[in-house]
Amino acid sequence: MQHVFDGTTSDRAGAWLSVDLDALTRNYLFLSKKVGPAECAAVVKADAYGLGLTHVGPVLERAGARTFFVAHMEEGVALRKILPNVRIFVLHGFMPGCAEEMLTNNLLPVLNDVSQVRAWKTLSVKIGHALPAAIQFDSGMSRFGLSEADLDIPGLLDETLKPVLVMSHLACADMPDSIFSATQRERFLQMASRFPGVPRSLSASSGIFLGPDYHFELVRPGAALYGIAPDGGPNPLSAVISLDARVVQVRSIKAGDRVGYGLTWTAKEPTRLATLGIGYADGFFRAQAGQAAVWYQDVRLPLVGRVSMDSISIDISALPDSTLKPGDILSVVGPKQDVDALARTGGTIGYEILTSLGSRFHRVYKMEKVLAESI
Ligand SMILES: *Cc1c(COP(=O)(O)O)cnc(C)c1O
Repeated sequence: MQHVFDGTTSDRAGAWLSVDLDALTRNYLFLSKKVGPAECAAVVKADAYGLGLTHVGPVLERAGARTFFVAHMEEGVALRKILPNVRIFVLHGFMPGCAEEMLTNNLLPVLNDVSQVRAWKTLSVKIGHALPAAIQFDSGMSRFGLSEADLDIPGLLDETLKPVLVMSHLACADMPDSIFSATQRERFLQMASRFPGVPRSLSASSGIFLGPDYHFELVRPGAALYGIAPDGGPNPLSAVISLDARVVQVRSIKAGDRVGYGLTWTAKEPTRLATLGIGYADGFFRAQAGQAAVWYQDVRLPLVGRVSMDSISIDISALPDSTLKPGDILSVVGPKQDVDALARTGGTIGYEILTSLGSRFHRVYKMEKVLAESI
């Protein structure tokens, strides 16, 4: 295993998260090439899916991303400070009364309902020219967006509205066999036909892999940029994160001894345990108890007992005695167990693991080479 130490803080850390910014660049270039000539935007909501917006944003811009999406206005304000020159869409639009601040921060709203459309038009009239925005359609997910009936409201779509993107979102894109994606695509086309010439966007990460029919003029991947598999099949993306935890202590217990809160695990035979400095406060879910494992080289070491706030107990009996000592490193997310595999042990998805990564990890951002290639 390779680790980058950057002096004493890293040496003190109980667990650390490595973010491979070159892998992030590779994933962006891969997706961008795959969808070309469509534009590949980058979704960086939730602090770039937990990886750190201040690091991720500039790397994506350098890779060629010109359009970014965040969920909340506040995230847009933060991103605008980091990237002054990109186009930033705010997926949730704006809260009542906040339209003007969107403008001050040079943010573009995704208009999701009639009230947002009206507020943006009112501001346009006040400013004296139509302000650009994206318009979202509800094509079947019933979450965000205008309905067909909304589009028929007299006067709603007049010249005080300046759509620069029309978009919708797929509910079942990660299930390639679902027929619902095709239904949504049809509805989307129908609604988009009212805005001739306006760039269209339907797909996030998984939708990209449904094929070119789903690319239109712009795609909006988030998860795939960060290495999450787009569907159940082989993952064509590069792993971006690895997560390692260090052994705080090693101990031996007797047959019949029990482990952790609630004493839910009992040793059937003499057992050697390592206590690792990672717990649910770090995004290692309690629901992973009983299923999860960590790795020492090629050896799978199962978690025993419950997940504590700051620690987990690992059965290390599979290793020869004295292999591990305090300070040694075990892999939680790495070559043997990717984010999606770890997620499955807790009955969840890679997205939730990434966005739950605690702030307590020592973080290492790796960037070994600047990518000279362009797209
Ligand atoms: C989160 C989000 C995305 C990105 O989704 P991924 O599955 O992470 O690629 C794209 N579009 C919308 C509307 C979203 O909410």
